[in-house]
Amino acid sequence: LFVAFEGGEGSGKSTQVERLAEWLRESGTAVTTTHEPGATDVGAQIRRLLLHDSPALSPRAEALLFAADRAHHVESVIRPALEAGQVVVTDRYVDSSLAYQGVGRNLQIDEVRKISRWATGGLQADLIVLLDLPAELGLARVRGRGGEDKLEAESISFHERVREAFRMLAESDPRRYLVLDASLQPDVIAAKVRAAVSRLIRP
Ligand code: C5P
Repeated sequence: LFVAFEGGEGSGKSTQVERLAEWLRESGTAVTTTHEPGATDVGAQIRRLLLHDSPALSPRAEALLFAADRAHHVESVIRPALEAGQVVVTDRYVDSSLAYQGVGRNLQIDEVRKISRWATGGLQADLIVLLDLPAELGLARVRGRGGEDKLEAESISFHERVREAFRMLAESDPRRYLVLDASLQPDVIAAKVRAAVSRLIRP
């Protein structure tokens, strides 16, 4: 089982990844938790390029670097864990690229989907949990967290377009998505995620 958490800045993805993994481990399930960008050695270098070292990176170059990070991530972390029978839970996956690069950077969702498909060898998440939050609220949550240079550079309207893109992606494929209000209490969100994952593990 492959679960991806998606959402904007400050939507609580990393907390929910950990909550889900904890619950699965307690029930005796082997779990790998991971994230994008930057979960591997190579990925950490790509992440630095993306978020700190290249303020003038062209949108296409940016999209390819996210795709390169993902290709290496799938090959060296996600696929091996899935093949070993583990549940994989990731903080961000393909939909982040569709929303941020496809819509945020105006590269078109279909174009970015093509590179993502190539980069992942077609590996899709079985369940995508979208933690939905107005951009303003999410940004307020992460401010003061010592955020990334790049994040600081984007306007509210950029992040609001990204939010709308995530919601639109979820609407277009409702069977694979669980859309949750990220302003709910973390416990409430975690319970809803567990219910959805239970249905997939023990249908
Ligand atoms: O989720 P995390 O905070 O680690 O992501 C780092 C930053 O990378 C985010 O601020 C997000 O704006 C950006 N990002 C992006 N395109 C992606 C994934 C993340 O612009 N495909």
